Amino acid sequence: MTIGIKEVEEPRRRVPLVGVISGMATVGKHLFQKPVTLKYPEEKPDLPERFRFRIYLKLDDCVGCTLCEQVCPNGSIKMQNVHRENPRNKRMIYPDVNFGTCTVCRNCEEICPTDAIYLTHVFETSRTRNNFTYSPEELAMDEDKVKK
Ligand code: SF4
Ligand code: SF4
Repeated sequence: MTIGIKEVEEPRRRVPLVGVISGMATVGKHLFQKPVTLKYPEEKPDLPERFRFRIYLKLDDCVGCTLCEQVCPNGSIKMQNVHRENPRNKRMIYPDVNFGTCTVCRNCEEICPTDAIYLTHVFETSRTRNNFTYSPEELAMDEDKVKK
């Protein structure tokens, strides 16, 4: 069996000025376009109506049924003991949420029988790398009150 040698075409010679002009034309075109970026955090993005992220919890409405923990597909919810008076939650257990692994699937919101846990438009939840988990009490607070 013989092995053929494939002929390689010589690259076409290009006129250097054409590349420069086409590059400048591209830059010029973008000069007059509206930027796609925002000066965050001074400017806030216009979020779509269905956008959801930060999860909140109404402590008084949570009955400690653990359904949210069971339905969470990636173990982002763990039940925690919280000693507070709540006749609806005799076991005194409430969910926390790890926002580092939460995929915003909304399963927890949909399964909650009392609408105690729900997702909102709030997305600014910056924390340190090892501290993405919000305790049940932190889930109940406004975001600006949560210790970063
Ligand atoms: S939104 Fe989904 S991933 Fe996030 S905590 Fe709820 S069930 Fe878990
Ligand atoms: S937040 Fe809702 S689903 Fe989760 S334990 Fe409380 S009542 Fe049950």
